[in-house]
Amino acid sequence: MTSSLTLDQRTAALDAIAGEIRVCTKCPLHQGRTKAVPGDGPYTADIMFIGEGPGFHEDQQGLPFVGASGRLLEEMLAVIGLNRKQVFITNVVKCRPPENRDPMPNEMGTCVPTYLNRQIELINPKVIVTLGRYSMGLFFPNAKISAIHGKPKWENNRAYLPMFHPAAVLRSMDTMKTQYEIDFKKLPGLVEEALKRVKPATPPHPLAGLDDSPAAEIKDTKAEAKPSAPPDKPKDDKPKDEPPLKQLSLF
Ligand code: SF4
Repeated sequence: MTSSLTLDQRTAALDAIAGEIRVCTKCPLHQGRTKAVPGDGPYTADIMFIGEGPGFHEDQQGLPFVGASGRLLEEMLAVIGLNRKQVFITNVVKCRPPENRDPMPNEMGTCVPTYLNRQIELINPKVIVTLGRYSMGLFFPNAKISAIHGKPKWENNRAYLPMFHPAAVLRSMDTMKTQYEIDFKKLPGLVEEALKRVKPATPPHPLAGLDDSPAAEIKDTKAEAKPSAPPDKPKDDKPKDEPPLKQLSLF
């Protein structure tokens, strides 16, 4: 169980996964790549963004979302007071599909369980943001991004928030940008809610109830911690509505 691992152990495991990805030959995508793109960001990130696959610039640099899409992502993060060094960013497939074509089922079927699922388990983010149709299809089978963007679902105290791919927003000539901001602004509240859900209840102080005890004073001045009760493509960048990988389910 990863929950029993120390941060050093998780870091070592995630570094090892990144190393495996950089030399991976498990699917045909390795044949055309310049650099594989494991992901970027702190291993302790509360928010994980999952795109589809590396593009030209990402393939050249070995980093995710470094082109125009990355700049829009950074702009949106700034709207909510974050920067890319505070979030973990990765993709469904770690190697660039030729000519930026869609990733194939066999490629995703190899890469997701081999790498992405392990990254999610080890980083254990509070919120997973899907960017684009293929990423969304992993967590929202049969859904259409135009219907569910910005609408989170909760599983095991983690929020899953589907969003448009930044490339689709860029192609919209800003007509989708206002909605994109609205969707991004939901992220801080989701992280806060996730933290509340996993926060253990504060046990009563053994001296609570004795009027003259120090505990009685503390009880008067501190807010009581109460755990909260646990609790649907923009026009996507790719004009297909069928989910890409119904068979892939992380959970
Ligand atoms: S896309 Fe994933 S499975 Fe395919 S070669 Fe790259 S790292 Fe390996």
